[in-house]
Amino acid sequence: MNPREVANRQFDIAADVLGLDKNVRVVLKAPKRIVKVSIPVRMDNGDVHVFTGFRSQYNDSRGPYKGGIRYHPQVSEEEVVALSAWMTWKTAVMDLPLGGGKGGIICDPKSMSVRELEQLTRGYARAISLVVGPEVDVPAPDVYTGGREMAWFMDEYNRQTGRHEPGVITGKPVDLGGSLGRDTATARGCMIATREAFRVRKIQTSGATIAIQGFGNAGSYVAVLAQEFLPGSKVVAVSDSHGGIYNPSGIDVDKLIAHKEKTGKVAGFAGAKEVTNQDLLTLDVTLLVPAALEGQITKDNAQSVKAKIVAEAANGPTLPDADDMLYKKGTFVIPDILANAGGVTVSWFEQLQSKTEYPWSLKDVQARLEERMVKAFQDVHAASEKHGVHMRTAAYAVAVDRVARALRWKGGA
Ligand code: NAD
Repeated sequence: MNPREVANRQFDIAADVLGLDKNVRVVLKAPKRIVKVSIPVRMDNGDVHVFTGFRSQYNDSRGPYKGGIRYHPQVSEEEVVALSAWMTWKTAVMDLPLGGGKGGIICDPKSMSVRELEQLTRGYARAISLVVGPEVDVPAPDVYTGGREMAWFMDEYNRQTGRHEPGVITGKPVDLGGSLGRDTATARGCMIATREAFRVRKIQTSGATIAIQGFGNAGSYVAVLAQEFLPGSKVVAVSDSHGGIYNPSGIDVDKLIAHKEKTGKVAGFAGAKEVTNQDLLTLDVTLLVPAALEGQITKDNAQSVKAKIVAEAANGPTLPDADDMLYKKGTFVIPDILANAGGVTVSWFEQLQSKTEYPWSLKDVQARLEERMVKAFQDVHAASEKHGVHMRTAAYAVAVDRVARALRWKGGA
């Protein structure tokens, strides 16, 4: 099942729960626009390589398209469209005045030099500059992109337009008008939602154990924030693309970050034994946080997942068949469109700051994020009880209903 099929299936389940009109369904299942671009880059060896990039603008019924840019060898049109659909539901579930979009470039950033990456990013910015803008479509970071790429993108876009428009992108460095707290926002939002899940399920945080798949922006900050939001818990397993580590007595997160900075991987960390990325998913822990890529929990391993709570920091880590299996065995899944929505929420805060040229304090950012996340969690949990469905279908029901209402007001279906 490719990500697009997964996204459509999740949508259909929620549409059935809502009894959604068939005309609204067909409109909401089609991306409004997909842009495919060729980006020639002169590589360090003198050869020109032409990279393929995408920008999918899924739906803008509630506001400008919004969504990150991914650099990865496995990027595909299907994946980018699915991610843009998820962004549409994510901004709606958070009740932000935004739509959903996503971008990606098929490339292996780990094998490219900084100069090549800059040329690639600037080429991509030029190629899609006509279809993005502060009131049109606002990209952000995703897998293997960050503040550095956002700065290049903004600079190139501003060169194209001849204007100073920091609002064309979010996830900018704070020096260039980025928001305080954006770097940790995805993880912070995820931990707020997780704390609420522990409350709803009446699970003690003290003594809780945590396994995290992926140790990038989302995963590493989840590890850092675990103590703040789940007092008395411990991170016992962590992985990255090179493999994972496990220590049932707990992992010192600060030391692990230093180790990863030095060696480029979590493997080899003192005192921990090695586990594969697959084994990490089925460890006997209280909380599992997938924070890497899609399609990790499938019908083949769902039955073996022992965590009581799964908080999806990553987008699309659980396939629909696995969802039902987890629900039936009582696992509480905080779905991606809710669990990782802290990132886009603070991106929206950044848009507001860019528009008004007035920076917020970190305290303000965190307080407003807390308020939004708790409200969204409560909306979704209430829908889950009302419709008698798991949290993912409930989140979709809340989101799809909001987008459908905006669409109807505009006469779109
Ligand atoms: P990142 O590039 O900072 O980190 C990705 C991490 O995943 C790295 O540690 C990498 O080693 C690991 N990884 C890659 N392939 C893997 C594999 N096959 N198995 C295990 N680990 C693997 O990316 P990120 O921004 O942390 O994004 C991670 C996930 O979170 C993605 O699904 C992304 O869409 C989602 N997400 C990120 C944000 C954000 O603000 N950064 C917001 C919402 C959702």
